[in-house]
Amino acid sequence: MLLLAWTAAASAQPYDLVLQGGRVIDPANGIAAVMDVAISGGKIARVAADIPGRDSRRVLSVKGLYVTPGLVDLHTHVYTRGRTATVTPDDAVLPHGVTTIVDAGVSGARNFDDFKATIIDRARTRVLALINIVAGGMNDDIAKEYIVADMDPAAAAAKIRQYPSILVGVKTAHFGPPGWIAVERAVAAGRLADVPVMLDSSVYSNSGRDTRTKVLEKMRPGDIHTHAYNDHQVEITSRFTGKVQPWMWEARKRGVLFDLGHGGGSFLWPVASAAMAGGFPPDTLGTDLHTGSILSLRVNVLNTMTKLMALGMSVEDAVARATVNPAKAIRRFPAIGTLGEGREADIAVFEMRQGVFALVDSIHKKLTATRNLAGVMTIRAGRIVFDRDGLSLESAGNSPSLAPLPRPGPAPPPEGDSGEIVFDLLLKNGTVIRPGRLTARLDIGISGGKVRRIAPSIPARFAKLAADLDGYYLTPGLIDARADVNNMDRPSAVTVDHHSLRHGVTAVVDPASTPAIVRRSRVRLIAGPRSPMPADALASGLDQTTALEGASLGRTMTLLLNQGVPFERIVARATRIPAAALPDFPNLGRLEANLPADLAVFEIVPGPATIPGPDRRRTRIAARVQCILTLRNGDVAWDLHGLTLREWTQAGGYGSYK
Ligand SMILES: [Zn+2]
Repeated sequence: MLLLAWTAAASAQPYDLVLQGGRVIDPANGIAAVMDVAISGGKIARVAADIPGRDSRRVLSVKGLYVTPGLVDLHTHVYTRGRTATVTPDDAVLPHGVTTIVDAGVSGARNFDDFKATIIDRARTRVLALINIVAGGMNDDIAKEYIVADMDPAAAAAKIRQYPSILVGVKTAHFGPPGWIAVERAVAAGRLADVPVMLDSSVYSNSGRDTRTKVLEKMRPGDIHTHAYNDHQVEITSRFTGKVQPWMWEARKRGVLFDLGHGGGSFLWPVASAAMAGGFPPDTLGTDLHTGSILSLRVNVLNTMTKLMALGMSVEDAVARATVNPAKAIRRFPAIGTLGEGREADIAVFEMRQGVFALVDSIHKKLTATRNLAGVMTIRAGRIVFDRDGLSLESAGNSPSLAPLPRPGPAPPPEGDSGEIVFDLLLKNGTVIRPGRLTARLDIGISGGKVRRIAPSIPARFAKLAADLDGYYLTPGLIDARADVNNMDRPSAVTVDHHSLRHGVTAVVDPASTPAIVRRSRVRLIAGPRSPMPADALASGLDQTTALEGASLGRTMTLLLNQGVPFERIVARATRIPAAALPDFPNLGRLEANLPADLAVFEIVPGPATIPGPDRRRTRIAARVQCILTLRNGDVAWDLHGLTLREWTQAGGYGSYK
């Protein structure tokens, strides 16, 4: 009797949150259907059709969106000390539905404690780690990763036993000398601690290593080979017949696992498409996230899922390879990787957009796809940690109003070199907005990192590559008047290039910039103006907190546009106006012949939408400012639509077989 009464009281207890009407994919439980997900006390309380809204304190409609277990990225790099090519975890992964990441061996037995204290313990993302067999971990000085005397299996295993809840395995990577010693030491550590080993190990002809021996003799069942889809680490397919190699089938049968490990050099369209055509998908879709992959290749788990889907994988299979599979690979299933009742409520909510999308591989060739996954909301342990559209926020009750968009006037006299030089890049037909000058439709020829000519109708034959910017707005590279980006020294900061260049920002003012962070940044980083920044200079106010709440210079511009501020005025506030306070940098905010080619291209994307405002309220917008191309010193740093990239089937450059 008493027990019955208690049960009734418990069931009357409302849920904290119900996500209603999403397409739930939970491969571990065989679910792929429209369902509701209820969360209570940070845990999954129930997954079922038609959970009544009255049973919950809060209800959010996620109709038309996918709802899956929080995604697991098996291969990331988030420890900054020693290895500078790493990213900050929360802002880099939470917006893409990822709630658990595994740092793939940046730290070793000697510096793991520092990694734990500075990054892991502070992150909202669940950060797990593979310990490097090299006690000093990864290092910018790669020769330090070759020191066999620093590969101590007992020390690595002891560290794993000390932190069994965080350290999920061993990593060996980047070993340059010939032979198997690094692999053998890593496997020995894996044996001692009874954990899997992840290998990043090349098989060049002079390495003394070959795929067959590696996957059939050196690796144990459950060990993971990452970088599956480059052609330097494992020979998945025969370069002569295109068929999957027999030892790959054998290895898979033995239980050896293959992680995608996309990264900056390990996803090539010919390898990936041959492997997928041969029926050899990766087991897991790790990204190998670092500064060399996050920005220009736009790598994240939703992106690796999108790429495999473009090669024929179903969305359900892609979700399995980003949830249950990696969770099992690190022996954390069913604690993570599923929406099973009672599990911690880590949830990804994302959309599948239809359109034309450029998916970029590691040598910057594109595959044009018609579907693209994009993160909408991320829940970590029951808490909403990312909310792209502000779905969970109170409405600001605003009505957006747009000023008329800029229209090109008559073309000014041509500027710059008039000889028949060959441009590296020719940007054609953009509407060029330069504060203080008339807006005009102009072509811009770039070579040697500089703007060489600005004129109407420059023939495309004068360029190695021409991109058509018809319908887009071209501006000088923008200046962000205030951001917190020194992530080497301050955990509150974000990775500067990633957060700036994709918004057209090529110069950032951060008073706390140090020479080290200035040196490693592609963006021009400015430690501080001599005079105060003008009040109307645009600033993103970026830091770890605001970045997840949607802050960016792009959002600042979008909000102004929707308050009726003319786009030309917005551009002035991010170029000429802040530049006036920075006299030590006379080229900033200018787009002229013979100056460095720092420039940005924007699309004004029409259509009603909502975004989180800086006041943490859901703000209605009628159009969005979207940066589609950023050049820094003439190099393409960001190219959302792949305007400067070639379709891989028509491109050369893949001749780098062993
Ligand atoms: Zn890696």
